[in-house]
Amino acid sequence: MSAKIIDGVAISQEILAEIREEVDQLRKAHDIVPGLVTILVGDNPASLSYVTRKIRTANELGFHEVQENCPPDISEADLLALVEKYNRDPAIHGILVQLPLPDHIDDNKVLYAIDPDKDVDGFHPVNVGRLMIGGDAVRFLPCTPAGIQELIVRTGIELSGAEVVVVGRSNIVGKPIANMLLQKNARANATVTVVHTRTRDLAAHCKRADILIVAAGVAGLVKPEWIKPGSCVIDVGVNRVGEKISAKTGKTIAILRGDVDFDAAKEIAGSITPVPGGVGPMTITMLMKNTLASCKARV
Ligand code: NAP
Repeated sequence: MSAKIIDGVAISQEILAEIREEVDQLRKAHDIVPGLVTILVGDNPASLSYVTRKIRTANELGFHEVQENCPPDISEADLLALVEKYNRDPAIHGILVQLPLPDHIDDNKVLYAIDPDKDVDGFHPVNVGRLMIGGDAVRFLPCTPAGIQELIVRTGIELSGAEVVVVGRSNIVGKPIANMLLQKNARANATVTVVHTRTRDLAAHCKRADILIVAAGVAGLVKPEWIKPGSCVIDVGVNRVGEKISAKTGKTIAILRGDVDFDAAKEIAGSITPVPGGVGPMTITMLMKNTLASCKARV
């Protein structure tokens, strides 16, 4: 039987509607709305496209939205001063610096300059530490892992006691999602294994996963025979495998594939995310959720 397709677009819309309602309530009750500043350096087309989508979503939700488009040759000192300006701005609850930054700027120096209480991307070491501690310590969950957890929970997949295998150990996906799902709380309580390029038998680990989360960035890495029948497969990978002309716009667009052989895997798994349309739409949504949470914390 074919797997249930976990529709990231629909779940994302559901969460955005909830956020919109909370924003209306905040406005009515406290005359305040979440404030988000997006800081973009230069004109890298991919970064510009990501930031544009974030700005559009923030505007649609009725956020106070500020854009800082900096020239590519902005000095590190000037960029740090800009971050500090928004650290002190009470109308701003979230600061997003779009990565990557130009070579003459130290990414970490800029990210670490953000007030941890406005770090809605969840990349500041203070928030990474809070995530590791868990419970009440947690302030902001990083957006892609938060989106993955939300997809699993809202699809009704049992996490408690589940064997979760995470392929990939990056700081933005693999490590945080592994940490989040092993926490002692109702949205986690899983038994988590993290595998990577030095893992001896990748297939054997994947085969025992009740929930398989793949974030390697290698198209088709996970073979159908590695998937446990009836399991939940979350494919985080986004790989450009070619180009095509869009029937809608006539423009050239990228052909994207995940890290899992979707067509074959969906005949074995119990549920699976597509690429695109699975984890991808959740990332911006969780950024908005973090900005809302930051605003509520101020109120
Ligand atoms: P990354 O920093 O390159 O990390 C990839 C991880 O996968 C590394 O830990 C690497 O192991 C492991 N890996 C790579 N090839 C492997 C193999 N053949 N066998 C086992 N492990 C392997 O990537 P990332 O930033 O986490 O992103 C991963 C993928 O998710 C990318 O396709 C990215 O575009 C996508 N992504 C999507 C979203 C979204 O919103 N949908 C957000 C973030 C990322 P080592 O540590 O041993 O090198």
